[in-house]
Amino acid sequence: MMNRCSRCGACQAYCPLYQETGLEPFVARGKVELLDLLQDSKLQWNDKLAEIFSTCLLCGNCGDNCPNKVKADLLVREGRRDLVVARGLPIIKRTVFNHFLKKDGRLGMMAKLFYLYQHSGLQQVIRKSRVLEKLPGNLDLKEKILPNLSSREFRKMVPKVIKTENSKLRVGYFTGCMTNYVYPQTGFSVLKVLKANKVEVVIPEQGCCGIPALASGDYETVRELARKNLASFNSLSLDYIVTDCASCLGTWLEYPELWQENGVNLLVEKIMDISTFLVKILQIELPNPVDLGLIIYHDPCHLKRVPGGRENPRALLKQITGNTRFVEMKDADRCCGSAGSFHITHYQLSQKVVQAKVKTLESRQAQYLATGCPACMMQLSHAFSEAGLPTKVVHTMELVAKAY
Ligand code: SF4
Ligand code: SF4
Repeated sequence: MMNRCSRCGACQAYCPLYQETGLEPFVARGKVELLDLLQDSKLQWNDKLAEIFSTCLLCGNCGDNCPNKVKADLLVREGRRDLVVARGLPIIKRTVFNHFLKKDGRLGMMAKLFYLYQHSGLQQVIRKSRVLEKLPGNLDLKEKILPNLSSREFRKMVPKVIKTENSKLRVGYFTGCMTNYVYPQTGFSVLKVLKANKVEVVIPEQGCCGIPALASGDYETVRELARKNLASFNSLSLDYIVTDCASCLGTWLEYPELWQENGVNLLVEKIMDISTFLVKILQIELPNPVDLGLIIYHDPCHLKRVPGGRENPRALLKQITGNTRFVEMKDADRCCGSAGSFHITHYQLSQKVVQAKVKTLESRQAQYLATGCPACMMQLSHAFSEAGLPTKVVHTMELVAKAY
């Protein structure tokens, strides 16, 4: 694929990071050039190169607009994988992936500790003391990104099988970590809408989809997580699998490449975003008009590329009537800058990227910004709150559920 790059530079106009920095190593052309040199052994991995390759949102906007169809996001990911092979993962990521991501119980324990930190008064004490401001790495700002965690895991608050009378279909629900630990209201909204439409829901044991590891080039960890998730959903006789998380969906769709075993394709073919399931499979019509004011929508990078991923959430939002109005936002599909752990590892740059959304909201006072990825919700909520904007960031399903 690299050979297809003609070095035309057209990607500069589409790369959010290049637009913010004007630096060639951050744009697709620069990274392809560096990968070429690495492959020819004219360069060796070093700290500087590691930093350059970690500075990419993997948003794919360059590839979508490249005349030669060079998918730089995939090339960057392969570069990160080579880097992991050559130098190993940084110690923080290695610790998080090995001791938390792969062990769902410990992830839950970490979420609980954060919840206690946020609700025991310790957070207020730390913030008032301003101790984090004195530490390196913008810790005081990063600490504010994480929204209030749920007191209980979503999956522990609901039965594993939610039956309805005369159910039409039986679906598995992959909740993802964010809905489970941070946004249980999204999960309850999904269940409410599915129940109203006579769908039986199964929520089996599951772990992280693996996206933090995939984005970091740690393919071994993703394979392990993929294997567990696939085994858990495989034996359930499901008609479909739904998820409310665009990032999880994107990762699941890569499972067949990562885990080439019989049956994986068949299982992965069943997964879809919840909005697609409601619009294309159930063909629902929302029953009640609701007065929600002005709604705008942000396209998650992982959702806009799957078939119907742009249209289906909009089709649902446009169905909400009453005094509710859906309006398109300028550059709705521009990456919000969240990008896995990018918003933490590259906090300042990530905040520059999200300012485009803040500016749009400053000029258009919407009541709600809806989106289909909890990671985007977290990034946008943080940016809006820092800017003092009143717009509430919600999952599309939270608004759809209000019509039931
Ligand atoms: S990646 Fe595509 S758009 Fe960018 S320089 Fe290469 S060919 Fe041109
Ligand atoms: S994937 Fe996104 S951030 Fe990375 S080079 Fe392409 S446009 Fe820039």
